[in-house]
Amino acid sequence: MKIRLFQTLHQKRQAKLNKAEIIEILSTNESDNELFSLADNTRKKYVGDEVHLRALIEISNICKNSCKYCGLRLENNFVERYKMTEADILKSAKQAYELGFKTIVLQSGESSAFSVLKLCKIIEKIKNFDVAITLSLGEYEKRDLKEFYLAGADRYLLRIETTDEDLYQKMHPNMDLKNRKRVLYDLKDIGYEVGTGSLVGLPHQSINSLADDILFFNELSADMIGIGPFIAHPNTPLSNFSNGDLTLSMKIMALCRLTLKNINIPATTAMETLQKNGRILALQRGANVVMPNLSDASYSKNYEIYPNKAGAFVFDINERLNSIVSQIKSINRTIAKGCGNSPHKGA
Ligand code: SAH
Repeated sequence: MKIRLFQTLHQKRQAKLNKAEIIEILSTNESDNELFSLADNTRKKYVGDEVHLRALIEISNICKNSCKYCGLRLENNFVERYKMTEADILKSAKQAYELGFKTIVLQSGESSAFSVLKLCKIIEKIKNFDVAITLSLGEYEKRDLKEFYLAGADRYLLRIETTDEDLYQKMHPNMDLKNRKRVLYDLKDIGYEVGTGSLVGLPHQSINSLADDILFFNELSADMIGIGPFIAHPNTPLSNFSNGDLTLSMKIMALCRLTLKNINIPATTAMETLQKNGRILALQRGANVVMPNLSDASYSKNYEIYPNKAGAFVFDINERLNSIVSQIKSINRTIAKGCGNSPHKGA
């Protein structure tokens, strides 16, 4: 029955699954193989065999928020807080550029550690390397997001984390799901390529709400989707909860590929952290992007959103990169030469 459902969808090439169908697929493992192979075919058809590498630079771990799952939350006093100097950020960006990266991602906790003006200056300087710039700095007012855009930022990553209002409230004290959605729509309006996504396996997260997440990504018409399993961090209120399920995370990812087709989807580090071949599996189940960490290890060791982040303890950046490149080549995929704008944008 499930196989037939997928074959029909594939033939019709209309894969607009409704909520009941999404829930059905998420509730059983019977159709997992078909789902994954359809997602892989869709990836190949719409975005090809190239894998885009994005250089991730974690510019600060200072955070004013209290997300229950995150190791960088304000209340975690075990973290040695840092803010990279402008010179160090530019050094990492230059290194990424020289290694051939065409996209640089600046990520941080949410704080005013860097002023908007300072961030704009950094963005302008990085832009001199002729790379695409992605920001992942949390929520800002629209006027600030516009400043970043005018300074040269092209893309923005802001996971919705969950669209379940009750769960969102429980996981994010002092935050508001409406504001997060507002930011995502502002980003679209300004002209950014917009990336969002969910954490899968949060305590008390329902299949129903995960289906809603997928529908939300479609409604927003996201250009990129990053799905990560929740990984329990010992210094958070969720330390005793189980990690998210890798297969379920990959099913959500595969359904994003099937429904949004030509978007960019990373094989997330959290997937690789949960299982050693997680990255390869993700690339074979819908993903077409990898985001190697290019932060200097003296900083990245303190950017512990969850424990044992894959690659975080490989101090040599070339070594980190080589192992990822060989994983990609081992499954006959190629490293993209272009900057990998989302073909979805404007669609
Ligand atoms: N401050 C930025 C960047 C957050 S870190 C923002 O608000 O967008 C990037 C992502 O790490 C988050 O969006 C979240 O989905 C993920 N993350 C945080 N803690 C995690 C955990 N314990 N397990 C898995 N992923 C986690």
